[in-house]
Amino acid sequence: MLTQVADTTHVHTSGFVLSNAVIVEGGAAALLVDPGVTSGEIDCLAADLAARGTAAVVAFSTHPDWDHVLWRPALGDAPRYATGRAADTMARLLRDPQTIVRIAEHLPPEIHGQVPLERLGLLTSLPDGTTHLPWDGPRVRVAEHRAHAPGHAALLVEEQGVLAAGDMLSDVFVPMLDLDSDGDPVEEYLAALDLLEAVAADADVAVPGHGTVARGPAIGARIALDRAYVHALRDGTDPDDPRIGSSAPEGWQWVTGIHQWQAERLGR
Ligand SMILES: [Zn+2]
Repeated sequence: MLTQVADTTHVHTSGFVLSNAVIVEGGAAALLVDPGVTSGEIDCLAADLAARGTAAVVAFSTHPDWDHVLWRPALGDAPRYATGRAADTMARLLRDPQTIVRIAEHLPPEIHGQVPLERLGLLTSLPDGTTHLPWDGPRVRVAEHRAHAPGHAALLVEEQGVLAAGDMLSDVFVPMLDLDSDGDPVEEYLAALDLLEAVAADADVAVPGHGTVARGPAIGARIALDRAYVHALRDGTDPDDPRIGSSAPEGWQWVTGIHQWQAERLGR
């Protein structure tokens, strides 16, 4: 099922950790951002597009994590773009035949065997210096940063004020830092939040990769909450954050484990 969030922008939400695909239509052509997780859901999305008389002519993966780089034949053969850094990272991972084996083995039990791994990560690099996605639909700005995963980029559908944030600005996940970065993951995350704040000045709607859609002032509130969380990680203090601890939503208590792991890894 597609949920409209702006003029020609819709969201398709997966039952798996509230993963959001974003669809931007321009006439009969559609841009598809992070298609989804299980085969059944992605096929459902393809059928939803067909029912609307549109089809994906271009796709984009916000970052090279397995749950953002999946595909199904039902979606057709659109180029699947990512930033150069993200596409290079994915290509390097796929050169190791064990990568897919490891992903398959580590899938959560509730989706085991349901995730289409055949076309995982077959991404095309955007040319260096790309500021807008190459397509004829609504103008979509690319905002690349260094947080969470190599080559992560958010997209802004400019005329419609929609920010597709990738794995940032979630109301269910705390910020997940790129702890394998060769830089400083904390500073990189804070810089990315500054960038998203600047981009979000032109947004009325923010769609996180996982979680619920934020509108208006709720976008700034999410940025502030994420910044406070990262500051707490940096300073070695206990974050006062509704996504973890006793205030975590029902069914999401395991996110506290992500926090504890990150705090340990950072040794703070
Ligand atoms: Zn991710």
